[in-house]
Amino acid sequence: MAAKDKAEISLRESEGRLTLAMEVSEHGFWDWDMDSNNAYFSSGWYSMFGYSPDELPGTFEAWKSLLHPDDKDFVVSKLLEQLNKLEAFQMDFRMQGRSGRWVWVTGRGKPFEVDCEGVPHRAIGTFVDITSRKLAEQQMLRARIAAEEANRYKNELLANISHELKTPLSSVIGFSDVLLEGLSGSLNQIQKDHVSTIYKNGNRLLDLINKMLDLSRIESGEMDLHFQSFDPGYIIHVVLSRTSSMAAKKDIVINTMIDPDVASITADADKITAILYNLVENSLKFTHEGGTISINTRKVGDRFYISVSDTGIGIKDEDMDRIFDPFVQVDGSASRKQGGAGLGLMLVREYVKMHKGAIHVESEYGKGSIFTLELPIYPPALSWNLSHDTSVRDKL
Ligand code: ADP
Repeated sequence: MAAKDKAEISLRESEGRLTLAMEVSEHGFWDWDMDSNNAYFSSGWYSMFGYSPDELPGTFEAWKSLLHPDDKDFVVSKLLEQLNKLEAFQMDFRMQGRSGRWVWVTGRGKPFEVDCEGVPHRAIGTFVDITSRKLAEQQMLRARIAAEEANRYKNELLANISHELKTPLSSVIGFSDVLLEGLSGSLNQIQKDHVSTIYKNGNRLLDLINKMLDLSRIESGEMDLHFQSFDPGYIIHVVLSRTSSMAAKKDIVINTMIDPDVASITADADKITAILYNLVENSLKFTHEGGTISINTRKVGDRFYISVSDTGIGIKDEDMDRIFDPFVQVDGSASRKQGGAGLGLMLVREYVKMHKGAIHVESEYGKGSIFTLELPIYPPALSWNLSHDTSVRDKL
């Protein structure tokens, strides 16, 4: 067989392979002759838009007429720009199918047959139907926007409701305090007991509202940290003075062991106080009368630890992870008797996260628990910046 015949056969074979590959791939294939403006569109290309070759002429103009009006200018100018630069291109856009529906495609292409003046005379490329992916993306975006809106609405609602609740509640707490102090006349013992119940429950409700508000502020990113350097011994002292009457009532001893090496840490003092108060309050709630609580601090490397251990009821292994979830109270009846709503540890976890720290729990059911707060110790050089600019913290 002559060399010419052989070459013809091999060309026909490779053309056949190409046609078959195009059919199988479900891609649309195009070849544009820029001199005549004629274009070849493969059968896959036509079927992508629901046309047959005799319904739509194979020209550049015919393709352009199907472009979505919002995409047309961008697509044509980008195409010409890439051709001028003799570079390959890829873009997503919409084209109208025969039924009128918009088909999203990824169009790829490349110029070739470039003359000696650097002008291309042909371009070739493919179309892939990406409509289902685009629709799924749009649906996801719509769902995300709706979820964000619902969340914003929930936070606004919570803030408004909380405000409306807090105003009358402060009257309830304030006036029951006035009555208890005997400022408006003396009360008999039964009256005192009743007013003291009103006072206590008013404060419980206020605590719950404040925790819910704080959590909603954290969720919406409105909660800031105010860094300052302070002696950790001082916040332990504050927490002990706030919990001493509760400890005395249950005859619980609170021991402290403070590492003298750590005279100062840099953190948000109010939030660290709130964390420690929550942990000590929980230990007091879940420790039997006559038990012991210990608060220890220590420094290991560049980490600072405060642990609160108790000889209380302990926590079962299977409940360890759950206790940080909202409204979880492991033993509902015991927890309800002690007060609280199951938001304390969730708030602790959020404050710890904001400090880039960690909270660890060890417990033996029936014997007691140890909650350990781990905080990074920032280098002294950064302390000043941290107290004024919380964004420095994010760069660490
Ligand atoms: P609560 O307001 O109910 O104390 P928390 O979120 O602070 O809510 O705690 C969630 C639950 O974790 C508590 O109800 C209790 O079951 C368990 N828990 C927390 N601290 C202790 C502890 N020191 N000992 C035993 N159980 C604890």
